[in-house]
Amino acid sequence: MARTPARLTVLSGPSGVGKGTVVAEVRRRHPEVWVSVSVTTRAPRPGEVDGEHYWFVDAEYFDWLIEHDGLLEWAEYAGNRYGTPVAPVQEQLASGAPALLEIELQGARQVRERAPEAQLVFLAPPSWAELVSRLAGRGTEHPEVQSRRLALAQAELDASGEFDVVVVNDDVARAADELVGLLTASPPAGP
Ligand code: ADP
Ligand code: 5GP
Repeated sequence: MARTPARLTVLSGPSGVGKGTVVAEVRRRHPEVWVSVSVTTRAPRPGEVDGEHYWFVDAEYFDWLIEHDGLLEWAEYAGNRYGTPVAPVQEQLASGAPALLEIELQGARQVRERAPEAQLVFLAPPSWAELVSRLAGRGTEHPEVQSRRLALAQAELDASGEFDVVVVNDDVARAADELVGLLTASPPAGP
């Protein structure tokens, strides 16, 4: 019997909704879940480790990756660039195991174009007020950067209808469970 091809799942959602927290919970419960490590031109936050949270690179190297088709998708977000190295994702899917990307909206749209079979999951806040308080509560950005991210978040929330599934991050453990279920679910049957 033919093996069901491994599925690429994209998790997206506004800054501060809890994408990183939910993915970390998924990894804690299921260390076997493979999550892509992005490249970014953003500076590391305290505690972030190169090669674990991101590959922190300079603008020249990011340009080089784009020119050499090294990225599955990339986007500029709140003044920095972020991208998904393509080779590790291809290797992971070729091995027959699922792959998870945690990326913003423009990148999710590029994945939809390049890999229409990918599953797009939107992580939504329980309310706008809760999103504002989570972003402020994280305390990693200056107030003006927080405002920039909130303006983007409004547009991102409006795009939730483009996604295959919406998961509400009301509770981290519950949202993580739902995401794990989606990662391993069979894709819908084709025509
Ligand atoms: P993102 O990766 O989407 O930008 P983070 O994972 O950094 O968001 O989460 C933003 C803040 O919200 C963090 O302080 C995190 O602890 C908090 N948070 C995440 N999920 C929840 C939740 N379900 N309930 C309450 N707080 C949460
Ligand atoms: P942060 O600076 O908070 O780590 O990330 C900012 C935004 O960039 C988040 O919405 C995050 O999901 C997104 N992001 C992280 N890696 C990538 C990537 O490789 N590609 C794209 N398009 N977005 C990414």
